[in-house]
Amino acid sequence: MRRIIHFDIDAFFASVEQLDYPEYRGKPLIVGGKSDRGVVATCSYEARKYGVRSAMSSVVAQKLCPQGIFVDGRMNRYQEISVQIFKYIEEKFEHVERVSIDEAYIDVTDERETTYEIASQIKSDVHSMTGLTISVGISYNKFLAKLASDWKKPDGIFEIKANDIPALLLPLPIIKIHGLGKKTCERLNRIGIFTIEDLYQYPESLLGDILGESWSKEIVQRIHGIDQRPVIESHTRKSYGKETTLNEDTYDRAVILNILEDYLIKIHSGLAKRSLTTKTLTIKIKYCDFEQFTKSHSLDYHTNNYGVLSEALQIMFKNLKLDKSVRLVGLTASNLESEAYKQFNLVEENPEEFGAN
Ligand SMILES: [Mg+2]
Repeated sequence: MRRIIHFDIDAFFASVEQLDYPEYRGKPLIVGGKSDRGVVATCSYEARKYGVRSAMSSVVAQKLCPQGIFVDGRMNRYQEISVQIFKYIEEKFEHVERVSIDEAYIDVTDERETTYEIASQIKSDVHSMTGLTISVGISYNKFLAKLASDWKKPDGIFEIKANDIPALLLPLPIIKIHGLGKKTCERLNRIGIFTIEDLYQYPESLLGDILGESWSKEIVQRIHGIDQRPVIESHTRKSYGKETTLNEDTYDRAVILNILEDYLIKIHSGLAKRSLTTKTLTIKIKYCDFEQFTKSHSLDYHTNNYGVLSEALQIMFKNLKLDKSVRLVGLTASNLESEAYKQFNLVEENPEEFGAN
């Protein structure tokens, strides 16, 4: 069973405006042009109470919510915050698929902590980093994780378990099915399909006439809790790292070395899977008083040879002075390069012979 997280920043653009301009807080704020042809990009939760929604024409939004405050979007600012959040997420996790500027899937199947712990950590880290709230969905596939993140918005965390299927889904309106657009839902409404339960009872062959055969098959599978789509990494890695706050602060060097060795195994297998090599290892330590430092070691050549990396780690650790109790341990491989550079492999096998030192 996979463990998938979907996170989504709550009312992203509007929340950033309310964060940067306190006078907008608690007010129905609409990000988007006010002109006749303007469209709502995002609106605050206060505006949603009036029925205002993303992608709605600004004219309609203004009718629904006459006291709504319209502001132009500041894409650069949103981008800046998005980059900050994704940098944190992608340093922390191996398998991250960006869906949009404020949304991503993370496959956490191989992580040590429980999915709930991971989700709570992400929520609190993002909040202390940016001041924004996110909603997190947890499940065993992408479809359900996405559905779950929408469940308790804003600032929510919700898990859909295998046992919840199908009961939890049956009463949902079909517009909640990610992949069915507004137009399609209207067509389905016209033939009496309003909820997922209606969809369950509708003959699949007839559904194919409306959605197309393969898409209707896919949708039927998803509402039965089946979705095999993998989380696909959507960026080129610059570094590969792992870090965790320990359950208890420790002075014990053996415990710390153990964790670092465990990280190295994971980092090594992650690099190998993607045919990547590294040249630099960095240990990060945060003490109990939150003082932190990093120590890096650069190799003479790029490698993903486990023996070479492990030896480098041992040397680094031997030289690592720890004078306070440790709260957090991290290890990162950076300076990555694709293994396709064959000459580096040759050098790796016979470093002396090729004069790399
Ligand atoms: Mg969002």
